[in-house]
Amino acid sequence: MSVPPLFPSLSAPPAKTAARFGERTLTYDQLAGSAGALAARLAGTGRVAVWATPRLETAVAVVGALLAGVPAVPLNPKIGERELAHIVSDSEPGLVLAAAGDDLPQGLADVPRMDIDVRATAADLPAEPDTEAPALIVYTSGTTGAPKGVVLPRRAIASTVDALGDAWQWTSDDTVVHGLPLFHVHGLILGVLGPLRRGGTVWHLGTFSTGALAGALTSGATMMFGVPTMYHRIADELDADPALAGALRGARLLVSGSAALPVHDQQRIHAATGRRVVERYGMSETLMNTSVRADGERKPGTVGVPLQGVELRLVDESGTPIRSWDGETVGEIEVRGPNLFTEYLNRPDATAEAFHDSWFRTGDMATRDADGYVKIVGRKGTDIIKSGGYKIGAGEIENALIEHPGVAEAAVTGEPDDDLGERIVAWVVPAGAAPAEADLADHVARLLTPHKRPRVVRFLDRLPRNDMGKLMKRSLHG
Ligand code: ATP
Ligand code: MG
Repeated sequence: MSVPPLFPSLSAPPAKTAARFGERTLTYDQLAGSAGALAARLAGTGRVAVWATPRLETAVAVVGALLAGVPAVPLNPKIGERELAHIVSDSEPGLVLAAAGDDLPQGLADVPRMDIDVRATAADLPAEPDTEAPALIVYTSGTTGAPKGVVLPRRAIASTVDALGDAWQWTSDDTVVHGLPLFHVHGLILGVLGPLRRGGTVWHLGTFSTGALAGALTSGATMMFGVPTMYHRIADELDADPALAGALRGARLLVSGSAALPVHDQQRIHAATGRRVVERYGMSETLMNTSVRADGERKPGTVGVPLQGVELRLVDESGTPIRSWDGETVGEIEVRGPNLFTEYLNRPDATAEAFHDSWFRTGDMATRDADGYVKIVGRKGTDIIKSGGYKIGAGEIENALIEHPGVAEAAVTGEPDDDLGERIVAWVVPAGAAPAEADLADHVARLLTPHKRPRVVRFLDRLPRNDMGKLMKRSLHG
């Protein structure tokens, strides 16, 4: 049986731009030529690493590897020595693909290098590889432990992009603009492979700036993908920048993911532009699970409803499914569907542990309301604070703290306490002069309930975040 193509537009290239990175562009015809030529050269090689700079070369390299059926491991070009050593020894790439002239670190000295030629041409595309074979190996963000290599088959990539096509009415007329890194699911699979599978255009800014974003949105981009730290910056700049507000007003869809979007930022953007940012929720292992739909009700603070083909349930501590959809009962999210990964590379133990029967345990805790909208309250373990007999989600307190005028950013953790079991600790980046600790604690108690009052407030200049803007709570000591 013949396999349907992952990128139908490469077999019959429409006369349009497939990818724009900064000022450089490739048409579908040119992408078919360069990725097809690379695929022919890769045929039969083992795994390849891709030096994933935010440039056209990365798009060509990943598409070429996918066409060849050679598993690709995207690497963070700012990767540190230790993490690189871990990924190289774990994934054993036989080749590293990089743009000509890119300096590669010492840790890749033993891996043969192949330059990516974005102007190469090929007469034919290879036959489509097996949809269940490993296509991409993406390392998790390492928020909760050492990064794990997630083995993703083409089936998962195709099904997640198609489900988002349904949820967002995402078509070949859309141009997606973003400035996301290309070594994680968000920037690479959604932000590059997504537009190419839909037959539309990806416009990568190279480096994210609100000025460049506004320029793209007024020059044909229709959708924006971003992480919450980007929307936070947008929210900060909107009042003083009418051009930015106007550009956002003209966008068809603004999408946020990778971490929780603070409701306060969502509200500020809505107040200045009339637009509501759409949140979606996913992870390296599952690709996308839920989203607010383009045609659905927007409920700020939620990540929407399960995507087409995705089964989602909440389970209690004993693993029993929670039947009521009351918007209050917190359980761990488990998912099942064609969007799931195959396994963790070299980690049969971790793979086995990650599944509960055929359901994948996400490690994320959430509620679900009567309409099926999922609200993430935090991660199991780190974000659920057990204090005075209550189970308290860190996210809700973080959202409340950010609403205080003296707070720019906030993170909440629990630390051991003789009386309470755990006490709530607030880590705060002040907006200007630091507010009084008691004032912040009272503010939370007033907005939420008294038992959610932070017992300790610690001020910081900045919160520890990774390249995706994810909070690295592991490095907040307390
Ligand atoms: P590791 O698994 O190595 O600890 P990680 O889980 O951060 O790292 P990723 O797979 O990149 O690695 O991120 C997935 C996680 O990101 C999800 O499990 C969830 O906690 C969080 N996340 C993604 N989207 C959202 C969202 N819209 N709201 C809240 N959290 C989100
Ligand atoms: Mg994870």
